Amino acid sequence: MAQVQDHGELAVVIGLEVHVQLETATKIFCGCSTEPADEPNTRTCPVCLGLPGALPVLNEGAVEAAVKVGKAIDADIPERTRFHRKNYYYPDLPKNFQITQYDAPICQEGELEFAVEGERRTVGIERAHLEEDPGSLQHKGGSIDTADYTLVDYNRAGTPLMEIVTEPDFRSANEVRSFLAKLEEVLEYLGVFDAERDGSLRIDANLSVVDADEVGEAGHIDADVLADANRTEVKNISSHKGAEKALAYEAQRQKNAVQRGRAVEQETRHWDEARGITVSMRSKEEEKDYRYFREADLPALEVADWKEQIAIPELPDARRKRFREEYGLSDEAADKLTSTKQVADFFENVASEFDADLAATWVADNLLGELNYRDMAVTDVDDRLDEITRLVELVATDEITAKNARETVLRSMLDDGDDPDTIVEAEGLGKTSGDEVQDAVEEAIAENPDAVEDYHSGEGGAINFLVGQVMQKTGGSADPGDVNQLLRAELE
Ligand code: ADP
Ligand code: ZN
Ligand code: MG
Repeated sequence: MAQVQDHGELAVVIGLEVHVQLETATKIFCGCSTEPADEPNTRTCPVCLGLPGALPVLNEGAVEAAVKVGKAIDADIPERTRFHRKNYYYPDLPKNFQITQYDAPICQEGELEFAVEGERRTVGIERAHLEEDPGSLQHKGGSIDTADYTLVDYNRAGTPLMEIVTEPDFRSANEVRSFLAKLEEVLEYLGVFDAERDGSLRIDANLSVVDADEVGEAGHIDADVLADANRTEVKNISSHKGAEKALAYEAQRQKNAVQRGRAVEQETRHWDEARGITVSMRSKEEEKDYRYFREADLPALEVADWKEQIAIPELPDARRKRFREEYGLSDEAADKLTSTKQVADFFENVASEFDADLAATWVADNLLGELNYRDMAVTDVDDRLDEITRLVELVATDEITAKNARETVLRSMLDDGDDPDTIVEAEGLGKTSGDEVQDAVEEAIAENPDAVEDYHSGEGGAINFLVGQVMQKTGGSADPGDVNQLLRAELE
């Protein structure tokens, strides 16, 4: 393999293999549930345990999810796709082979656009294929290389995965982080992925360094330069932040090696999150090590028709643009309101019932603001969206003040769990009727002749004192602006 000779400036090249768990009710080749379980090895059957004679049956839902991903990344979906066996021995893989896709993956040659520091970037996606997740290992008394013993749990075995393989189009760890955020956003919009689920996104990252002179316009690097560069594959990355840290570390490690005239070994390295370093695991496996051959227990799958039948929702970029145009939202508000599909759907619901400005204030500022303050997300209140809509209605129909709605009702809804009408009733927040306010204004004037005199002699503070008196009499349920006007009218 060619090595970088020049000790001048070096550029970083990164390509990703992202494993994404698809959200389906059951596993990809059997009927076992994919719900997280409290006990290990309770969501298993002969198929996902790899017992002799057990036969796989493909889950339609997994194929549907894969087609959705393919459409979202603008990939070619072939007429027919098929499965292969990837043979290797590891304790988390009971069959001693993984059913995956090889020469006819379900998604080919797609791309994903994302923003990094305000600039648009596009990364090519070489392929995205379906496969089964292995089980999971729990190392006891240490990490993978120091544990006393290791336990295996096959609950995860057979969970549908998509492996998304990018072209080596990234030029920094920072770009990788932005890409991953965008990928998750798109997958969540499609409804095929749950970012909250432990281990639902796992990343292997390939990194090499090349001469900075090789980098042309828009980051272009010739294919033979890329093929010749020795690269490492960093495994065990499980978060966006982890990816950025692991790759920043690995880039520096390789640069140091090259600058000291040493070769970068082509190898697999392990990201040690706790220590913040990558460590050498083994020399990189090659394709021939896996002895791929056709999975004879599964027929080839005709996907041509599915492509037409399966629809995908409006994706985040398109929705953001539409929100700006249709509702006249600022960039910032449109970004917030499309941060997840659920938030966007809720906003549009409220906007259709009341008005867009009120909906934007309520969802983007009040709701997201109060949730954020409590370290909560909209997913934590998804069974209470009707109650929140009711609260907006109380404001829209002028039954309570906007200030009380946010500062008292919404906060108490989130902290104590009551519904808005109960809180309004209990706290006596219903806007006081015009007559009652008028009575309170007259009382306040009668009871405070000194303040009235001050007002007439031009002392500005006097009116505020009187407003305060009226607010007290009405238990804070009158609108201070209205009170101010009523007082002035009465005093003139
Ligand atoms: P392999 O034969 O090792 O599987 P692939 O061509 O399939 O190689 O690429 C695997 C991953 O390595 C892809 O994510 C790809 O983007 C990445 N990759 C390829 N060349 C480079 C490179 N020079 N530097 C960094 N990553 C690379
Ligand atoms: Zn099973
Ligand atoms: Mg490969």
